[in-house]
Amino acid sequence: MAGQIPQRFIDDLLGRVDVVEVVGERVQLKKAGRNYSGLCPFHQEKTPSFTVSADKQFYHCFGCGANGMHYAS
Ligand SMILES: [Zn+2]
Repeated sequence: MAGQIPQRFIDDLLGRVDVVEVVGERVQLKKAGRNYSGLCPFHQEKTPSFTVSADKQFYHCFGCGANGMHYAS
């Protein structure tokens, strides 16, 4: 179909983008061991309870419970 982006291309693109980079564009992340932590973009907070795992491409907030896999979209 004209103008349609092949699913294969999208998968490739997503596979190359790092969740830490994607989240890092919105949230200032600090490296904490193997993970990164920062202020949660999903709720208001003053102490960082938002964690991003580069290994698992996974994010989780201990404050509001937001979580997800980068590849799951
Ligand atoms: Zn949160």
